[in-house]
Amino acid sequence: MSKAEVFELKCAVQEYAWGKKGEDSAVAKLKASVDSNFTINPDAFYAELWMGTHPNGPSICKIPGEEDVPLSEWVKQHPKQLGSEVERYFSGSLPFLFKVLSVRTALSIQAHPNKQHAEQLHIDRPDLYKDPNHKPEMAIALTPFMGLCGFRPIDEVANFLETVEEFRKAVGGEKADSFVAASKTDDKSKHREAMKEAFKSLMERDAAEIKSFLKPLVDRVTGKKTAGEDVSAMEGDLLLKLSSEFPGDRGLFAIYFLNVVHLEPGEAMFLEANLPHAYLSGDCMECMACSDNVVRAGLTPKYLDVQTLLDMLDYTCRPISRTKFLGIESHGNIDITIFNPPVPDFGVSKFEVPEGSTGFLLQAFESASICIIIRGEGEASSKSLKEPLKLRTGTVFFVAADADVSISLEDGQGMLLFRAYAGVF
Ligand SMILES: [Zn+2]
Repeated sequence: MSKAEVFELKCAVQEYAWGKKGEDSAVAKLKASVDSNFTINPDAFYAELWMGTHPNGPSICKIPGEEDVPLSEWVKQHPKQLGSEVERYFSGSLPFLFKVLSVRTALSIQAHPNKQHAEQLHIDRPDLYKDPNHKPEMAIALTPFMGLCGFRPIDEVANFLETVEEFRKAVGGEKADSFVAASKTDDKSKHREAMKEAFKSLMERDAAEIKSFLKPLVDRVTGKKTAGEDVSAMEGDLLLKLSSEFPGDRGLFAIYFLNVVHLEPGEAMFLEANLPHAYLSGDCMECMACSDNVVRAGLTPKYLDVQTLLDMLDYTCRPISRTKFLGIESHGNIDITIFNPPVPDFGVSKFEVPEGSTGFLLQAFESASICIIIRGEGEASSKSLKEPLKLRTGTVFFVAADADVSISLEDGQGMLLFRAYAGVF
């Protein structure tokens, strides 16, 4: 039986076409910093670093004096180290997958079912929905980060329908007119109904028609850009980015339905069940419940389950301010921000240590956690460790429940560390 409580994890990198290329990718740089066997291929697209027990990319435990084993295996042998509440609630498994993402081109517009719906989908369509779990997600920006999140305020969509002719055509003239009429009322349920009707109309329109509407729009915006005109009122820059990535895709029109969110480093989005969203560009930390259940709406060559999507979406109109998820901040000799979304599966804390600091304590917690050093160097000590664990940019380490870890910083250069844990408490 291993007595280890704190140990390094060797983590898997996933290459996907939407990832950032070569040295541009934070994922690649973090990995290369800690793994001498990993060389960055300048032509490869490094999208994700996975920290957790997912079978498609399990993290490997590097425990001195012991054989390397996947974290999933280690957790199975040492379920108590999850923390007793976590062990009980999640039947002895780690409930979250923690990631770093480097996004170059857009990921599909999507939503995730709630727990009950996921169970039903898994029964009805196990080929498509491979597990019965929900998949709440949270993204915390590492660099300026752009995404789509939730339906826009109704006036904004009505304005696009009145000013962007091709969008009006894609929704349909009659639908557009009744949408604009509904937008002039104060009835929130009418707003949701109108949003659903208009979005449905876009999603069900013939693909060839969509292409024929997109072409003149993209041409027009390109022309304006070339002439040096401001195209921000019609989200011109985003339209051209997405058009270069997914030419002719109906998802391009979704930018007129959904909020375009710009996160500064340290700002977060929480993607609860049924909320339409997409990541568009930038690097971020991401934490999610262990599931692969995705219902897609566009910007993808993958299968779109349109009917399921239309029925499940949350059509609530929300201002951009309500698309960001605020953490609880505390400022002392280090700055800590706690992001605890209203799900039992996970929470994430961000530790920012200023220059000149010599160390800090990662306090014992009731849940096992996974930490990653995004920036900085130092050492971690804990009572179960014979030798301190060397930390550098890219180091990922596991901390068992109830273990204290004290971190000392060698060079006074500061540190940025993220810690993910179960949020069942
Ligand atoms: Zn998602």
